[in-house]
Amino acid sequence: MRYLSTRGGMAPQPFTDVLLEGLAPDGGLAVPEAVPRVTPEQLQAWRSLSYADLAYEVLKLFITDIPEDDLRALTRATYRPEVFGGDVIVPLKPLKQGIALLGLSEGPTLAFKDMAMQFLGNLFEYVLARRGTTLNILGATSGDTGSAAEYAMRGKKGVAVFMLSPAGRMSAFQRAQMYSLQDANIHNIAVRGVFDDCQDIVKAVSGDLAFKTTHRIGAVNSINWARIAAQVVYYFHGWRIATEGAGDPMAQVSFAVPSGNFGNILAGHVARSMGLPIRRLVLATNENNVLEEFFRTGIYRPRASSETYETSSPSMDISKASNFERFVYDLLGRDPARLKALWDELAATGSFDLSAHKPQFAQYGFVSGTSTHADRLDTIRRVHTETGVVIDPHTADGVKVALPFVEPGVPMLVLETALPVKFSATIEEALGRPAPRPAGFENIEQLPQRVQTVDADVQTIKDLIAAGAV
Ligand SMILES: *Cc1c(COP(=O)(O)O)cnc(C)c1O
Repeated sequence: MRYLSTRGGMAPQPFTDVLLEGLAPDGGLAVPEAVPRVTPEQLQAWRSLSYADLAYEVLKLFITDIPEDDLRALTRATYRPEVFGGDVIVPLKPLKQGIALLGLSEGPTLAFKDMAMQFLGNLFEYVLARRGTTLNILGATSGDTGSAAEYAMRGKKGVAVFMLSPAGRMSAFQRAQMYSLQDANIHNIAVRGVFDDCQDIVKAVSGDLAFKTTHRIGAVNSINWARIAAQVVYYFHGWRIATEGAGDPMAQVSFAVPSGNFGNILAGHVARSMGLPIRRLVLATNENNVLEEFFRTGIYRPRASSETYETSSPSMDISKASNFERFVYDLLGRDPARLKALWDELAATGSFDLSAHKPQFAQYGFVSGTSTHADRLDTIRRVHTETGVVIDPHTADGVKVALPFVEPGVPMLVLETALPVKFSATIEEALGRPAPRPAGFENIEQLPQRVQTVDADVQTIKDLIAAGAV
């Protein structure tokens, strides 16, 4: 399997070459040259596999330049009970008739990003060793991505992480999660400023090509195809556990996905394109409804950061969805020339109109809806009253938007994108008391923290990288 750019300007490359790159040289995103197909017989055979071996079967369709035994060792090293809180790795948590949570947040940082990032950590260490090189990962975070990346890369040989976060702007729990890591290859840098300042510094540092080359600067952002591929696995897993008892081997399920950068739900689209019997992909947004607007109207209009609201489901506060280009590529019949023309129009006018393609949205299974702060509080309360389960605000957006699409005989799986303890202030607002703390996280705020606080200055960050690079 080789990889192309959505915009047509990249010669076909093997997986491990695109793994360590960000955007393709033409500004596009890497996509597999063809979507692998899975037969009903394969689906049946995969029912009895462990999660790690299911991951191996799915990933080897996308990763053909790593020897199969090595790939299996990587998935087995990643999807272990000690890392994901139990043998099932991803449990199904029934809420009520027809609707269940898919428990993607049992990993070390209690959010779904661990599912892909933990694999990426092992994969990077393996590929870098094989190539005899090292990588210094530079990123900016306002929460979940940064901690998932740090927990994936901590202690890994040949990799260091330099993670910028806005000083004092994350929850105490999120700060404690990241800053309490004592590993020598993890560098927490709190920047006096806001998230956009952090992101601007990352852009400036990566834009200095000489510096980037000298220090082998890389990224682990959500456009990395390896992250998408690793996320495809849990759609297969969710399908197999939700349809276990249904005599029909091709029984359908629907998934509801709290969405921001379109990475999580894109993996669902890929799984469906591979032949997994998914009826609907329900895309949920918060007040930042760029994607809901697209699926309702066919018009894609990313917002300026000044038009992006700070909400109580902060990991979905995005102005433009970085993975969306890969879906549009499929929508346009995988035609890079048309895709490029559309993105040129977007750059020139700030939007594009694909309303003529609206019938296809339904063919691809997509429906969408939006959820507000009041909806989140109400949904957290209702789910708690009816089932005793406390859900996090992002998952609540998913539940709220899923409800009108629940159909008899089709299980609706809402992707649990985080555990509530990460966003306890909103839980307190909804339920009048803090979120339950999972074992092992009782006193995390009291642990010693390892973080440097600096001004929002590019040279300062470059100096820190030069001093700590591997
Ligand atoms: C990252 C994140 C999302 C959004 O996922 P995308 O892949 O960006 O669409 C939703 N909820 C939580 C808790 C997240 O961390």
